[in-house]
Amino acid sequence: MRRGTDIAVVGAGSGGIGAALAAERAGARVLLIERSPTIGGTAVRAGVSTWEPVAGATGVPFEIYLALRERPDAVACYSYGRHICMPRPGEAPFPGGEHVMDRAVGYLNTLQRHGMRSLREDEQFARETLHGVVFEPDAYAEVACEMLREAGVEVLMGIAVVGAEATDGRVEHIRLSDGTEVRGRAFLDCTGDGALCAAVGCEMMAGRDWRDRFGEPHAPQVYGQECPCHGKASSIATNAATLIYRIMPADTDRVEPLPDDIPAECWWRERFPSVSAVQAPRGGYIMNMLPTAEYRSSAAFYEECRRRLLAHWHYVQSEFPEFRGYRLAWIAPEVGLREERRVVGEYVLTEHDLLAGLSGQGHADIIAIADHAMDLHGEGGGCRELSEPYGVPFRCLVPKGLRNVLVASRASSFSAIAASSCRLSRTMMQLGQAAGTAAVLALERGMDAPDVPADDLRDELRAQHVQLEWPMRDELREWIAQTDA
Ligand SMILES: Cc1cc2nc3c(=O)[nH]c(=O)nc-3n(C[C@H](O)[C@H](O)[C@H](O)COP(=O)(O)OP(=O)(O)OC[C@H]3O[C@@H](n4cnc5c(N)ncnc54)[C@H](O)[C@@H]3O)c2cc1C
Repeated sequence: MRRGTDIAVVGAGSGGIGAALAAERAGARVLLIERSPTIGGTAVRAGVSTWEPVAGATGVPFEIYLALRERPDAVACYSYGRHICMPRPGEAPFPGGEHVMDRAVGYLNTLQRHGMRSLREDEQFARETLHGVVFEPDAYAEVACEMLREAGVEVLMGIAVVGAEATDGRVEHIRLSDGTEVRGRAFLDCTGDGALCAAVGCEMMAGRDWRDRFGEPHAPQVYGQECPCHGKASSIATNAATLIYRIMPADTDRVEPLPDDIPAECWWRERFPSVSAVQAPRGGYIMNMLPTAEYRSSAAFYEECRRRLLAHWHYVQSEFPEFRGYRLAWIAPEVGLREERRVVGEYVLTEHDLLAGLSGQGHADIIAIADHAMDLHGEGGGCRELSEPYGVPFRCLVPKGLRNVLVASRASSFSAIAASSCRLSRTMMQLGQAAGTAAVLALERGMDAPDVPADDLRDELRAQHVQLEWPMRDELREWIAQTDA
């Protein structure tokens, strides 16, 4: 079967939802194609239902937050609770960092990360300043579906894009797993690993970048093995993966039995990883083991992560008696991948941008801002805070050599270090919002998206309440405060 659309958005994770909403609202016919049986991507399928603090999340993410607030127990803001490094007098020890729902905190409080000091450095500051959002994944998927339906987006679920044809830098059509061929005027790759761009032969990056590639001060000089399949100066190490689980209060006081074939000791590293445990609006904790494994693309990967997860939960219950009053209620159906392949675009965001910040970058085409720490989990990792927000240039969404495709996901054109900061769900949504908006501006003007004047795109985004400046403009701050009251 053959069909057509104005804009095909591939992948319905954070980036894809932002892109499809923005494009359809701007007047295009949009087809959103998602291979999983539900939309939401990592935020739903991998159970990453927290939004850490980040600057710039004032567009589609704020709308989703407001819609979630209309549902019972669907969303809350959070603050620090207990912490393994800073036990307070009289507190029971905790197996990592606890985040607790906090009614005193509003959305505005979740929009700053830079300048963060750790609990060890300045406990009072960290407790007063670090706030995020936690939501119920099912409610999030429902709300996003409703918003897409109201806007008029056609959503295909359980269907993957399996191929694409491009001629002279233009994708002509994509092929779906059900045999359909979709022709479009523009294509937005929001797959999280640049699957569409890879299918038409774009240059890709994967793994940590050697220092001589971008001259980044914190890039490894010699790291791991050269990856035979990913070419250019990459190592195979990626930001680590985590299989998330949910625990719920139970009327018991026991350690749940560990299957006989799973050791009770940690067999893959020196000791069990600590956990980021976030209180969930409908009860229990969302448990994010930091991390579960180095990502490997193999059929056995999920099962190995599941075994580690069960051992981890057994350790938590054995060593921290309060958890015997909980049961393991849910294991995410997909492992959360912090990083896969990335597309080489017209501009590659690097650590230099993160360190220069908005005041020093000097790009004229910034379409989103962010300020999460450089945050690599696993071997050779670490967390380095930034001193001011940085901007993401539109050129990071433009795959080199393609004219009618934009990439808006964690696979956008970032170095591994930049990706470790930029990948947050709300930032991906903002990239999607910019890509959807740019694609429609281009169609209206009979030009290709890379040629849309940056000033026009930025004006359009500002009109959609997107924050492009730091500090935030007063009228935007007041609008958020009033709307969230
Ligand atoms: C363990 C973990 C913890 C994290 N913690 C936080 C946090 O606290 N706060 C925060 O903000 N961020 C956090 N992140 C980062 C954040 O969750 C992700 O980077 C972000 O959600 C990625 O969004 P995305 O749209 O780029 O990709 P995804 O959400 O992965 O969406 C990509 C979508 O594309 C679909 N797809 C892929 N290929 C195809 C195809 N061929 N055809 C059709 N569909 C396809 C996928 O099924 C998926 O739905 C965390 C990530 C992990 C893994």
